[in-house]
Amino acid sequence: MKKIIFSFFIILLLFLLYILARAAMFSSSQLKVETVEAVDTPPGAVDRFVQAIAIRTVSFANEYDFDSTQFEMFNEFIENNYPNVNEKLEHQLFSHYSHLYRWQGSDPSLKPLILMAHLDVVPIASPRKWSFHPFIEGVKNDTIYGRGAMDDKFSLISILEATEQLLNEGFQPNRTVYLAFGHDEEVSGKKGALQIVNYLKENNVEAELVLDEGSAITHGMIPNMRNDIALIGIAEKGYATMELRVDMDGGHSSSPPKETAIDVLSSAVSRVKQNPLPLHLTPAISGFIDKIGPAMDFKSKILFANKNIFSSLILKVLANGSGGTNASVRTTTAPTIFESGIKENIIPTSARALINFRIIPGETPQTVKDHVEKVVNDERIKVEYHGFKSKPSPISPPKGQIYDLVDRSIKEIFPNVLTSPSLVIAATDSRYFHDISEHVYRFTPNYITPENLKCFHGIDERISVEEYQNGIRFYRRVILNSDELRTN
Ligand SMILES: [Zn+2]
Repeated sequence: MKKIIFSFFIILLLFLLYILARAAMFSSSQLKVETVEAVDTPPGAVDRFVQAIAIRTVSFANEYDFDSTQFEMFNEFIENNYPNVNEKLEHQLFSHYSHLYRWQGSDPSLKPLILMAHLDVVPIASPRKWSFHPFIEGVKNDTIYGRGAMDDKFSLISILEATEQLLNEGFQPNRTVYLAFGHDEEVSGKKGALQIVNYLKENNVEAELVLDEGSAITHGMIPNMRNDIALIGIAEKGYATMELRVDMDGGHSSSPPKETAIDVLSSAVSRVKQNPLPLHLTPAISGFIDKIGPAMDFKSKILFANKNIFSSLILKVLANGSGGTNASVRTTTAPTIFESGIKENIIPTSARALINFRIIPGETPQTVKDHVEKVVNDERIKVEYHGFKSKPSPISPPKGQIYDLVDRSIKEIFPNVLTSPSLVIAATDSRYFHDISEHVYRFTPNYITPENLKCFHGIDERISVEEYQNGIRFYRRVILNSDELRTN
């Protein structure tokens, strides 16, 4: 017996030594990059950004609210302000307001690079809560104000400025560069990005790299981390909404039956909510652990350096963590509409609820529906898809030459950031581009902080002039660095 206890302790000790040694040896795999000198940004660049924001290219949920004159004005804005882009790049319009520019590379055998952004913005939901005018405030105290300052005129104008500047210098890239600007990203991208990608497919264009919005540089967002972390989105979540509906006898509320439509439906919604979908350690989270883990405190390192042993514990910590980490490890469940009843003393004959799911790679709308039906387990309730649905995107490699190009371009401009793969929890136009490229990444070079997070699609959207200037420098580096790729 003593021998058994003794051997047990020896094994335990060896195990502890093993995980501690792994934590101690868990060293950085961050790409080492030399910073490049910050080039001057083009004169008038800030003014042009302010002008672009002043054009109210709003995508409304109801398409009858679409204001075509604003979108016409945006077409004219690009035409009037970027002479080299207009003169030297081939240009095509899709659905009148989405743009595809083609900058011919010197070596036609090389696969092209596609830089994406969208020119539409979301509406102003509560204008009174804004502390400035959402479209015409302009620039004050080194800050550019207004809807689109972050999402996504920031990257669109930065891409145009970088391209115009390089054209002005007489630069021609090795590989062809496309600029793809959709005008309906905020309402599906079907008239813009989808048409552009269909056209590229018809012309057998296969891209080496596609870069769109999606993730950014986080500042003060990751617990126990002092460094800023640039997140590079390697995939994005899917989307589905389920309608749960029950039809039953109604009646007078003075003599209610044992169970009503409202009772049945509310307990079903509650069951769905209490039985979340399973946790997944996706390549994005796994990559985050490898890239960021070594910079964390020793306690976290013990977990992260031994992620294969502690995966279920890590997933539980992330599922319960603050800052939306739950959304990065599972399909989320969000009841969004609950409807029933017409009068206080009538028992309704039907009840209906909508539950919105954001689907993690590894699951599909169908597996989510199967899960809901199983958990509801009540044949009085019909479960059906409601509205738009999409599968999660494929996953682009979280390493390799093409990923490193994005990584390198970030570090050349932002020397102190750490970089990491990530999963984008919202939808972007780039999901359509997986059909024409294995390397679709999502990153814009702006900072997300606990303070400005609420500005995104919310109130007081703004960006600093310095961030904008670094945005131009970043896209410039992406184009220049694509010349160094040693691939076809
Ligand atoms: Zn956007």
